Amino acid sequence: MANGCTADGQRPVNSAPRPALGARRNRVGTVTADGTDLTLMVVEDDESIGRPLTAALQAQGYDVLWALTAAEALELAALEPPVLVLLDLGLPDLDGVELCRLLRASVPSTVIVVLSARAEDVDVVLGLEAGADDYLTKPFRLPVLLARIRAHMRRQGPPPGTTAGEVLGIGDLRLDLGARRVEVAGREVPLRPKEFDLLARLVAAHGQAVTREQLMSQVWDEHWSGSTKTLDMHVSSLRRKLAEHGEDPSAIVTLRGYGYRYDPPGA
Ligand code: CA
Repeated sequence: MANGCTADGQRPVNSAPRPALGARRNRVGTVTADGTDLTLMVVEDDESIGRPLTAALQAQGYDVLWALTAAEALELAALEPPVLVLLDLGLPDLDGVELCRLLRASVPSTVIVVLSARAEDVDVVLGLEAGADDYLTKPFRLPVLLARIRAHMRRQGPPPGTTAGEVLGIGDLRLDLGARRVEVAGREVPLRPKEFDLLARLVAAHGQAVTREQLMSQVWDEHWSGSTKTLDMHVSSLRRKLAEHGEDPSAIVTLRGYGYRYDPPGA
């Protein structure tokens, strides 16, 4: 079983009693006046990480659900679908990568940020199968995590470079930005939130090239300074999903050392 938590195995056998599920929830309003949903879920079995993290997020005004196990995470997500999930991979009852898949299926619109101590997990969680949107390696600095969450939460509106309610179309591809729906020749393509934002940013550029830095800062984090591997993995899963729906995957053109361009042949 993947274990992304450095503290695992070091916890005393007689650890403090776990708080009841209800006690770990803050059921006050989850939606702000402007309609922004602030519900986050922390999935973390290590209380020495989960408790201060939950408190820090609540202090920022988020409505936080805290799950200690995969089973609790699925139960809470069904009751109150979170906008964003912070997911530890080393859980007692289920592999975190498998939980990532299940959460992605049960709450398709949620942003999943994996917190992992193992750099090698990155390929797996951001890859074609698990469906995570972002990752931070442990130990992480709280201000960095909070900045990353703020960047993700801002993305609930129209994707960067686009206008709310706009419908973009090139060839057989149609993007409804208000509904966050993508269709190829009338067939809906199920995309993860970041895949949608990425495609929208590229399509909105109307055939112009978009640099890697622009994509990282506008689709992920305005203060992004780390690896841009996330971008390449999202582009490859986007190409695969478009191809499965009959779109030419070469429509997303790689510009080596520069960025990407959406340029469907024959459109
Ligand atoms: Ca753990």
